[in-house]
Amino acid sequence: MKQKIQQFMLGRYGADQLGQFLLIIAIICMVISMVFHSRVCNLLSVLLLILCYYRMLSKNHSRRYAENMQYLKYSGKVIGFFKAKKRYFLQLKDYHIYKCPSCKQKIRIPRGKGRISISCPKCHTEFIKKS
Ligand SMILES: [Zn+2]
Repeated sequence: MKQKIQQFMLGRYGADQLGQFLLIIAIICMVISMVFHSRVCNLLSVLLLILCYYRMLSKNHSRRYAENMQYLKYSGKVIGFFKAKKRYFLQLKDYHIYKCPSCKQKIRIPRGKGRISISCPKCHTEFIKKS
């Protein structure tokens, strides 16, 4: 039996990051459909599972690889966006972030230094702000 499964899986694409993502979305849809009795979510979860298995059992490696690369490209952008936002909000605890009034360059000033004159490192405009 094990040998038959190995024989069947020979040359198949298998699981990848996009497959894992689709599986997670399918499970979330399944839970939503069970809780809210939503037929749309139930249908969507079944379709996602079919797509997941289709991709795993596919023998067209180059196509599946290209799809996964496309997914990684976009998911990387989304993850990078949220990491940048998280970094920004963590900095707000210790720094004020001001924009230069003339060139809109962001300038990071440590908190708790009182009213200070800030010189823009890009255009050298001076402005006064509370830190
Ligand atoms: Zn400036």
